[in-house]
Amino acid sequence: MEKILYLAHVESDGTLSKAALESLGAAVELSKKLSGSSLSVGLIGSQAEKAAGSIASCGATSFFAVSGPEFDCSRYSTDAAAIEALGRQTQATLMVAAGTSRFGRAVPGATFRLNGRIDSRITGFTVENNSFQIQRWFYRQRMMSTQTRAQRPWALLLDPGVFSPWAGQPGTTSVQSIAVNLPELRTRVLGTETATTGPQTIRPDAKLLFVTGAGWTKKQSDGQPHVKEAEDLIINFLEKTRASLGSTKSLVDQTGDGQQVISLLSHINQVGQTGSTPRHQKGLSTCCHGEEPHTVGWRFINERRAINLDANCGWAQGKADVLYVADAFQVLKKVNELL
Ligand SMILES: Cc1cc2nc3c(=O)[nH]c(=O)nc-3n(C[C@H](O)[C@H](O)[C@H](O)COP(=O)(O)OP(=O)(O)OC[C@H]3O[C@@H](n4cnc5c(N)ncnc54)[C@H](O)[C@@H]3O)c2cc1C
Repeated sequence: MEKILYLAHVESDGTLSKAALESLGAAVELSKKLSGSSLSVGLIGSQAEKAAGSIASCGATSFFAVSGPEFDCSRYSTDAAAIEALGRQTQATLMVAAGTSRFGRAVPGATFRLNGRIDSRITGFTVENNSFQIQRWFYRQRMMSTQTRAQRPWALLLDPGVFSPWAGQPGTTSVQSIAVNLPELRTRVLGTETATTGPQTIRPDAKLLFVTGAGWTKKQSDGQPHVKEAEDLIINFLEKTRASLGSTKSLVDQTGDGQQVISLLSHINQVGQTGSTPRHQKGLSTCCHGEEPHTVGWRFINERRAINLDANCGWAQGKADVLYVADAFQVLKKVNELL
């Protein structure tokens, strides 16, 4: 008889993030599949009451909150203490939470204090004969494992972008406030800064991944590179579409080679074997050859198109649904005009 505790940190405006709603969707599904299980909700943040109301109809039997201004920010000591208190209060055997950077830091320590075990980056689960198994990938999404654990409590951090977000009616519900004995706070959070300067280019929630390859900086038909023009086209396209910007390794490495580069790219944009594996509905690759170490990072891109001058590039070898054999400079200029 599993006691499922869904955990979420509440945004400053009292909402729950998309990742939090996705993990709630998964927790609700899990509680329905595991017969005899119960579901409770544990919220962290000063606006917890408001957040509880927004998910009042999710089917949870009880709602708990650790609230107070010190729980609004991401800080290990306060978050770990809150999660530990919620775990003890509910005697949870399964703790389900979104794998956000905030929970990625705090849930492992809290689980240790509860003498539990934790698995992160979970992308699926199965329930057979009331036995529960999780799925996750290893070795850069090359091998998928199905595994289970006997130890309880078992904390599960779910990968964002995989599960369907919970959607239901708001309502009213009573929320039980949980008191937490905090240690002396040695960390003060002054504010947040984005990791990159300039336009924000990585947008995990975007429908479209727009990939730029090294071709954008190569000599073109007139024998000259046109890097400034490429940059303007790309920025214009991103502003109009709000797509997320990915890149090949060759292009982001050029910063270190001292070449003229596209300024908005850094190594965190790199997609592929040694880069990231983003999740988006659609992908458009431009001036990129579509080699395996790059396209392996496209595993979770559902609809794929590419623009390349070379009709024999990697995208033509079954890696894209549509390949436009064309000059990406011309295509993007036209697309921007149409947009
Ligand atoms: C162990 C290992 C790990 C790696 N990990 C990664 C990784 O994580 N990510 C990654 O990206 N790579 C990775 N690589 C490198 C990868 O193999 C390729 O070298 C790299 O992806 C090539 O980048 P590219 O396609 O941008 O450049 P290129 O191969 O130089 O291709 C440029 C393309 O642009 C096209 N082009 C030029 N001008 C135009 C134009 N006007 N219009 C349209 N098309 C044009 C050309 O036809 C060409 O196909 C890895 C390699 C190894 C060995």
